[in-house]
Amino acid sequence: MITEKIQNMVKDLAMECQKNDVAMSLGAFDESGNVAVGQVGSKNQVETVIDIQLDAWVDSMENCGCSGCRNKLKELQDGDESVAKSSKVHSFVVNDAEEFLDVIDRIKRGEFQ
Ligand SMILES: [Zn+2]
Repeated sequence: MITEKIQNMVKDLAMECQKNDVAMSLGAFDESGNVAVGQVGSKNQVETVIDIQLDAWVDSMENCGCSGCRNKLKELQDGDESVAKSSKVHSFVVNDAEEFLDVIDRIKRGEFQ
């Protein structure tokens, strides 16, 4: 499950990336549908990271070649993408320092609980 420790690690990683001018996008998901998302950077930078992740994901499925991966690749080629539904999203999206402080405030107010 997405524990508080995982949420804190995502948040810490987002802060560290922000501090070092590193663009980042990561998502974690558990079986009960909880999600933790960390994104740092401009919209273009985050888009670039997501593109890189998608390429890596497709590569890994091409390299695997099992029937599940082959079917998924076919689905993607057919444009039939399914979006995972989440009941609880913990988002740490940072585009600038001010916005990040707002995120921290919202975390403190318990908006992500
Ligand atoms: Zn496979």
